[in-house]
Amino acid sequence: MALIVHKYGGTSMGSIERIKNVAKRIAKWHRAGHQLVVVPSAMSGETNRLFSIVKGISTQPNPRELDMIVSTGEQVSVGLLSIALQEESVDAVSYAGWQVAVKTDSEFTKARIKKIDDKRVLTDVNTGKVVVITGFQGVDFHGYITTLGRGGSDTSAVAIAAAIQADECLIYTDVDGVYMTDPRIVKEARRLDYIMFEEMLEMASLGSKVLQIRSVEFAGKYRVKTRVLSSLMDPLIPLDDEMRSGTLITFEENEKMEQAVISGIAFQHDEARISVIDVPDKPGIAYQILGPIADANIDVDMITQNTSAEGKTNLTFTIGRSDYRRTMDILTNHTKDRVNAQGVLGNPKVSKVSIIGIGMRSHVGIASKMFQTLSEEGINIQMISTSEIKISVLIDEYFMERAVRALHKIFELKPV
Ligand code: ADP
Ligand code: ASP
Ligand code: MG
Repeated sequence: MALIVHKYGGTSMGSIERIKNVAKRIAKWHRAGHQLVVVPSAMSGETNRLFSIVKGISTQPNPRELDMIVSTGEQVSVGLLSIALQEESVDAVSYAGWQVAVKTDSEFTKARIKKIDDKRVLTDVNTGKVVVITGFQGVDFHGYITTLGRGGSDTSAVAIAAAIQADECLIYTDVDGVYMTDPRIVKEARRLDYIMFEEMLEMASLGSKVLQIRSVEFAGKYRVKTRVLSSLMDPLIPLDDEMRSGTLITFEENEKMEQAVISGIAFQHDEARISVIDVPDKPGIAYQILGPIADANIDVDMITQNTSAEGKTNLTFTIGRSDYRRTMDILTNHTKDRVNAQGVLGNPKVSKVSIIGIGMRSHVGIASKMFQTLSEEGINIQMISTSEIKISVLIDEYFMERAVRALHKIFELKPV
C-alpha cells in the first residue's frame, strides 16, 4: 500500500465523460489498496472564461477579488469528481484550499505556498477516504482566498505530496509524458522515459508549459517522486503498466537513461526586447535603468551590455510582452533623460528558444552547432544567454517554430 497524489489537468477534467474516466482510474487505484489524495484543475476553458468575465467589468481588477472569482473553477471540479467517485462506490470527500488549509502569502494571482496542514487530509485518508483537494487555490494568513498563477494546480499537487510525505505524485495530463519539445509543434518529437530534475527545472522556467516551474521546485526541495503521464489512456489498464508509463523526474542519473546531450527544447513566444542606446558608460547605469523596472514588479530576463569606444554603452534586455507598454513608458517618460540616453528602441515581436541538457557539461561545440543550425535556416540571433546546462537565443517571433523544428532535427536524442 502506498500513499499517492494524483493531479488531473483541465483537459483531463474537460467533460462529464472525462471526469467519469478519472473517477474510474482513481477507483482502480483505491481497489488495489492505495491511499489517494487527488488534486484536479478547473474544467478546460473554465479559468479563461472566468478571467474574461472579469475583463468585461474592469481591465485592472482588484487582485483579491480576481482570485475570489478565478479560483471557483477548481471548487466545481472537486465537487464533481467526489460525486463521480461516490458513483464508483468510493468514499470521497472534497475540500477547498482554505479548508485543508493550503496557506500562502498574500501575493494575489501569484501566491506562494508557505505551509500545508496535513492533519485533516491524513485523518480522512487513514479512514479509507479518497481526499479531493482544489488545485490552484490557497488561503493567506488573513483568511483571503489566493491563487498560485496559471498552471498552478501542478504546484498544489506536488506541494501537497510533499506535505503528506506521499510515496509518489502522478501528474496526469493530455500528453503521455514529457517530450523533447512540445509535441504540438514537433509532431515526431519523442517522449522521454526519464528527465533529470535540473533539466525539468530549466525546461519549465524556459517556457515548456507541461509543468509549472514552482511544482518542479517543490519536487526538488522535498524530493517528491514525480511522474508525468496521460489521463487519456484507458482508465482500467493494469496498474503495473500505468505505474511504468510516462516520464519520471529523477534526481540521480541512472543507467536506463538515454545518454543524450540535449534533452529538451523549450520556447517562449511572447517576449519583447528593449534597448537603451548610447548611455554614458559609468558605474550605476544598469541599476538606474533596471531599478525602476524592478520596482514596477516587471521581470527582466536576458540582459546584455556592449560598450563602444566613445565611452557610451547600449543596454539591451528582454521582458514578457504583456509588460512591454509599461516598460517603454517608464523608460521614455522617466529614465531616458535621467541617464542621458540617446534613445530607447523596442521590439515586442520576439521569441526565445532554448536547448537544455546536462550533457552540455561534458560536451563542447553544442553552442556552435545551435548557431550553425539557425544560420542555415536564415534565422538571425538577436541575443544569447547561457548557463551550464542551457543555451537560449532571442529571435524574431516569425521564425520561432521553424527554429524549434530545425533544432529538434539536429539534436534529437543523439546518443553521446
Ligand atoms: P494540464 O491542463 O494537464 O495542466 P497543460 O496544457 O498545462 O496541461 O500542459 C500540457 C501541455 O504541455 C501539452 O498538451 C503540450 O502541448 C505542452 N507541452 C509543452 N512542452 C512540452 C513537452 N516538452 N512535453 C510535453 N508536453 C509539452
Ligand atoms: N485552472 C488553472 C489555470 O487554468 C490552474 C491549472 O489549470 O493548473 O491556470
Ligand atoms: Mg498545466
